[in-house]
Amino acid sequence: MQKTLSIIKPDGVSKKLIGEVICVFESAGFRIAAMKMKWLNRAEAEGFYYVHRERPFFPELVDFMTSGPVVLMVLEGDDVIKRNREIMGATDPAEAKAGTIRARWAGSKQNNIVHGSDSEESAKFEISHFFSGIEIF
Ligand code: GDP
Repeated sequence: MQKTLSIIKPDGVSKKLIGEVICVFESAGFRIAAMKMKWLNRAEAEGFYYVHRERPFFPELVDFMTSGPVVLMVLEGDDVIKRNREIMGATDPAEAKAGTIRARWAGSKQNNIVHGSDSEESAKFEISHFFSGIEIF
């Protein structure tokens, strides 16, 4: 069984989409192995998006990710990393396939409701950034 990190970003929480997003994940057969709500500070958001630190949108992205609470989840399932990315849709909602989370609810390329790890390596790093072993069931 594979694990991935999912985040319902501040826009998803403020739009009251926590339940909808969790419903999509559970309907897809993913198991929620860990979950918590947290208001990230700048160090936590910058560390999480470290790979994007040179990108021009990095400061804006950190402002967004620290603008309100997020819901952090570890999802478990067969091939969950790839399947979750498919269910989320493309980064830019204008390019996301119909029916995906981002096509349905995202407002912009930045404010795109959810994060999902994009590889086994990033899933490992991202899960350990937010969860200790005893918080994952
Ligand atoms: P993801 O894996 O689909 O989330 O996309 P990336 O890893 O490429 O980017 C990480 C996050 O940065 C995205 O989910 C967006 O919230 C944000 N982002 C990506 N591209 C842009 C951009 O061109 N402008 C802004 N403001 N934010 C962006």
